[in-house]
Amino acid sequence: MARPLDSATREALVERVRFYRDLGLTEFYRRPVDAALLAAEPELSAQPDTPGAPGLASETWEPAFQPAMFADFQPANSHQEHPIPHSKSMPAPPEIAAAIPPASRAAALQLIRDDIGDCTRCPLHTGRNKLVFGDGSPVARLMFVGEGPGADEDAQGLPFVGRAGQLLNNMIAAMGLRREEVYIANVVKCRPPGNRAPAPEEANTCSPFLFRQIDVIRPQVIVALGATAVTYLLGARQPLAGLRGRVHSVRGTQLIVTYHPAYLLRDPRQKKEAWADLQIAMRELGLKPPARG
Ligand code: URA
Repeated sequence: MARPLDSATREALVERVRFYRDLGLTEFYRRPVDAALLAAEPELSAQPDTPGAPGLASETWEPAFQPAMFADFQPANSHQEHPIPHSKSMPAPPEIAAAIPPASRAAALQLIRDDIGDCTRCPLHTGRNKLVFGDGSPVARLMFVGEGPGADEDAQGLPFVGRAGQLLNNMIAAMGLRREEVYIANVVKCRPPGNRAPAPEEANTCSPFLFRQIDVIRPQVIVALGATAVTYLLGARQPLAGLRGRVHSVRGTQLIVTYHPAYLLRDPRQKKEAWADLQIAMRELGLKPPARG
């Protein structure tokens, strides 16, 4: 039977599931509740029966624990009900044949931005303050791809400018690079409400623009930050853990997978692992870490 969640518990639960998702753990199963525990804790089995109470349908305990719901980490009130099937190919625009000369890349990116325009292609536009197109060098050898703008990014119109962005800046500096030398973009260009993961419908609508940005910049290496980025770059959902530590390929570019900086903020112990991932990127780029001084 369904049990309503108070908003604090619900938020904590969402945060915890996001944490697991960042780890690459996407399948969750509900353990049967111990009958002895129910007998000892009657309030666990007593189901408030308040039909018609506001928000009840979206705040029930049980739907939040459906494996299908967790597979994509959709909050129970998300409009999107279709999880990404395992290994389903995602639509991607055809790769452009010829490399765009470096001098023309800024203009080519501007054309993509113009095509996006005042976008209303997916429901995310309704909550948008500023669209976050991307930031950095149009001739970058290294590109980072995140999930989608958060509150700070939505306010400023720039990717990774909040706390996670600070950490990303430090990661970039540790690689011996400046932020202006790399390019940073996201799978979706508008902020998902409550910082939830973009729904497949939203990500599939928006990601063709990311692919066009990649085709213009033609970075040598892309670093996918977290599960959403790698899912839509590779066109298949696979656990992050199995994707790290190797070089993949996307649109003729080497792809390296690491944790999302927001996850690293929640679990700094994983920074060592992320650094190992960044070192793979550095190796491919022929970079040496800057001397400590
Ligand atoms: N998280 C992201 O995935 N992208 C941003 O731009 C900021 C936070």
